[in-house]
Amino acid sequence: MGEFELIRNYFAAAPCAQGGEGVALGIGDDCALLAVPPGEQLAVSTDTLVAGVHFPDPCDPFLLGQRSLAVAVSDLAAMGAKPFAFTLALTLPTVTADWLQAYARGLNQMAQACGVALVGGDTTRGPLSLTMTVFGHVPGSQALTRGGAQPGDLLCVGGELGNAAGALALVLGQRHAEPAIAEPLLAHYWSPRPQVALGLALRGKASAAMDISDGLLADCGHIALASGVALQVERDRLPLSNALVAFLGGADATQVALSGGDDYVLLFAVPPSRLPALQAEGWPIHVIGSVLAGQGVTLVDDVGHDITPQIRGYQHFRETP
Ligand code: ADP
Ligand code: MG
Repeated sequence: MGEFELIRNYFAAAPCAQGGEGVALGIGDDCALLAVPPGEQLAVSTDTLVAGVHFPDPCDPFLLGQRSLAVAVSDLAAMGAKPFAFTLALTLPTVTADWLQAYARGLNQMAQACGVALVGGDTTRGPLSLTMTVFGHVPGSQALTRGGAQPGDLLCVGGELGNAAGALALVLGQRHAEPAIAEPLLAHYWSPRPQVALGLALRGKASAAMDISDGLLADCGHIALASGVALQVERDRLPLSNALVAFLGGADATQVALSGGDDYVLLFAVPPSRLPALQAEGWPIHVIGSVLAGQGVTLVDDVGHDITPQIRGYQHFRETP
């Protein structure tokens, strides 16, 4: 199977590659042509997943198709942008029809769930790696950036923490658990649900936002720095799933929720006066701390003692913790 046949059979033919709102021209020409509604800005983000670094190799290609797109779309959610298109740069060591078919099926399922059309890409031979570029649109000045958190704001997350990182030992086959525990954790790892609708609901309400990909404390550090504020996280307010606590025990579950990556849950600051309306709309919002004057991130226990750990998250190329 040649490059063009591969593109045609598995990607150009996929239901998610048949265009959509904002797609003036999709796969097949030298460029795709995209249109953004008048008065809105184009939000663009790229994510690369490398076999053996970001996911185990080999792994289930259907699940990889879902996950590779979900992690990229999560950045649009974090910006309050409405996703509408994406490209896929695929590097493959060998071409097998079964692998491509399953990968494209997973990709397509997530694309349809997120409302994004596949509009182009690149296909090359080499060690397995996937690069997604996602496109969304957001009304001018309404994008949710990491800067803007103010002392007095509440620090919130949009869902349970630590499930995906907790699942890692299951993903790598290092540990096993009964299905009632393993299944919900593995689902968080392999098919994270980008919080697109929550991101849209936070437009004009949250003062700062991002998605948690490196670990809660590390990502809090990004908001603190960009906003020029201090963030205080209260250990006992972290939302933990029953499955995670049953799998790891409470202390390790808390540890994983603080420093494990891959959650793809939104982390945001919101003035207290705006919280009740958001909660009344039924969004899964958990207050986990507060924004203070100052700098840096601290973790406190139930009586307010500083228990901030040293190592905060994963960084490529970092040589010392
Ligand atoms: P060029 O050489 O002009 O960059 P290519 O031959 O790489 O174009 O690709 C032909 C068309 O197929 C382009 O529209 C490109 O965006 C699309 N394409 C290539 N690889 C993929 C892929 N993995 N998924 C979706 N579209 C792809
Ligand atoms: Mg090319």
